Amino acid sequence: MNLLSLINLAYIVASILFIYGLKMLGRQSTARRGNSLSALGMLLAVIVTLLDRQIIDYTWIITGLVIGGAIGFACARLIKMTSMPEMVALLNGCGGLASLLVGWAEYGKIQSLGWAHYLEFFDGSNKPFTSTVIFLAVLIGGITFTGSIYAFGKLSGKLSGKPVLFGGQQFVNGALVLGLIVAGVIFVIHGGQGPIGTNAFYVALAISLVLGWTLVMPIGGGDMPVVISMLNSLSGLAACAAGFVITNNVLIVAGCLVGTSGVILTMIMCKAMNRSLAHVLFSGFGADTTSAASSEGAGTVEGELKSISAEDSYSVLEAARNVVIVPGYGMAVSQAQHVVRELAEMLEENGAEVRFAIHPVAGRMPGHMNVLLAEANVPYEQLVEMDSINPQMPMMDVAIVIGANDVVNPAAARDKSSPIYGMPIINAHEARIVICLKRGKGAGFSGIENQLFRLENTRMLYGDAKATLQAVVTEFKSVKA
Ligand code: NAP
Repeated sequence: MNLLSLINLAYIVASILFIYGLKMLGRQSTARRGNSLSALGMLLAVIVTLLDRQIIDYTWIITGLVIGGAIGFACARLIKMTSMPEMVALLNGCGGLASLLVGWAEYGKIQSLGWAHYLEFFDGSNKPFTSTVIFLAVLIGGITFTGSIYAFGKLSGKLSGKPVLFGGQQFVNGALVLGLIVAGVIFVIHGGQGPIGTNAFYVALAISLVLGWTLVMPIGGGDMPVVISMLNSLSGLAACAAGFVITNNVLIVAGCLVGTSGVILTMIMCKAMNRSLAHVLFSGFGADTTSAASSEGAGTVEGELKSISAEDSYSVLEAARNVVIVPGYGMAVSQAQHVVRELAEMLEENGAEVRFAIHPVAGRMPGHMNVLLAEANVPYEQLVEMDSINPQMPMMDVAIVIGANDVVNPAAARDKSSPIYGMPIINAHEARIVICLKRGKGAGFSGIENQLFRLENTRMLYGDAKATLQAVVTEFKSVKA
């Protein structure tokens, strides 16, 4: 077996490790092992690539490794779970920038060596193909980079989370896309050579950076998770294009895996919200939630809001035998997951069966509730998916809704004029008694009213979820002591 076959064999092993690692990430019980397996695959790919490329000076590589490793280690230790979405946005941006730089560097090499000499290094490549993939790596990398930085700004609160809309926005974006296509065709035809080819490259580079920004501008902060997973997919495609530029098989495979898994995740989120990707990207959802609530016919809600104290909540829960907890975005905001686990344990000690009903888009990122509850060591077996818990809902004595709103809004099933009509919900309203924890009359992500809060069997426990839950737990402790 010659060296080239050995290298390709190692790349195949690395790819298999990536695929198995990804598969294992699908279950919480195997996710850690899956992550380690993928990291092992990446280590193998890096080592083989370093040997394969006959590198004569390791100085820059080691410098990059040390600086990058230190930053990565510090981020892993310091970044809170709740800041994960913006962290992922930054990482996507870095991936996009890396692909852009690979494409740009290779273009620089072509400029200095000339096509004939450059292609001698790459078996089977030709001028139109290589210029096309260079262009794609730069274009997709550029859009991913600035789009991700904007998304990071919105998620971290450094930029307004409101959609930024202006007249003729779609026209401006359309003109930019057209400009990119024209620049791309000119670049490929001229092979990036001469003043025309060179100008086409720099024009395309500038447009891609502007386009990343303007595409994310009209998207509301709440829709950012969908955008992040889409940008994640784009960063994979940019890496794939960079893999073709430098004819590196493992980069092509890894890029494809990231690209396709990002697309799948984006589609899952859109389906769970019952919205199309086009609606997420172009509707400016959340720009004016009050008008969405009134004019789009969020439906009129009837009935009184009836509050309940922590002491009375305790009395209700003390008598319950079947309790379902429905967490939502408010649990993440108040960081109530630890006290939720404490309450669940107390209810179980009291003889109740406790389950957590998990909606696929509760919170602001996929798996948001799973991550928070896992952090608080809630047993995975207690987490029940929406489709499994809904048929059992009429048997539940009490449903405790913790900072969830849209994902338990019955209007999604009943009111055709509601902006969230068609979104599957957790049927908390079917439980015998519903206790809803929220701070006041604040609407959910969609900005619409929720009939659940005014139903006969619903009681509102007002206040920050962590504080009110703590009060219920204290009541449990004092009575049982
Ligand atoms: P939600 O509809 O955003 O409602 C959250 C509720 O939490 C609010 O009504 C708020 O009411 C309450 N709240 C906020 N801070 C609180 C605190 N400290 N203590 C107690 N309550 C608090 O949440 P959701 O039901 O989880 O629904 C998620 C929404 O996000 C869905 O519409 C979904 O489509 C959207 N979305 C999700 C994803 C994803 O990947 N998960 C992605 C994009 C969009 P008060 O202000 O009155 O307290």
